[in-house]
Amino acid sequence: MNKEKKFLRQCINCKSIKTKDELIRLTKDYKTKEIKINNNMEYQGRSVYICKNIECLETALKKRKIENSLKCKLSENIKEKLYTVLKN
Ligand SMILES: [Zn+2]
Repeated sequence: MNKEKKFLRQCINCKSIKTKDELIRLTKDYKTKEIKINNNMEYQGRSVYICKNIECLETALKKRKIENSLKCKLSENIKEKLYTVLKN
């Protein structure tokens, strides 16, 4: 039996369904109201997922999909972090 449950989530940009390790989780921290990269489940709040590729990130940023979905502004700091994560 496979103990590890495969949680499937949908990319906010391309709408493809992937496992959690193929996606970046972005959470609007309910305490600070800031959007954080949250792959380690450190923060609690409303979350969106995005594929680990530059194309999805750029399109999502251009169309403000993350910000619209979380009703919150994405800080430059987090945008930079996202690019850093994806380039590695
Ligand atoms: Zn995608």
